[in-house]
Amino acid sequence: MKTMNCKQLGGACDKEFHADSFEEIAEMSKKHGMEMFQKNDELHLKAMNEMQELMQKPEAMKDWFEKKKKEFDALPEN
Ligand SMILES: [Zn+2]
Repeated sequence: MKTMNCKQLGGACDKEFHADSFEEIAEMSKKHGMEMFQKNDELHLKAMNEMQELMQKPEAMKDWFEKKKKEFDALPEN
């Protein structure tokens, strides 16, 4: 298992996620983002807006995803 927090995954808080693959951890952070979105959490709304802007540009989104995946791969197992 590896650990990344919400902020590291484009979010806004220190909540940690644990998963074996980047796809899995990205999914967990997305789900958490949605929950915070529903709670109208201001910081997460802002972070999600930024992510949505990034998603408008497929190349930028791809770069972001690759970069985060590398970060995940470089983490020690815990
Ligand atoms: Zn968060």
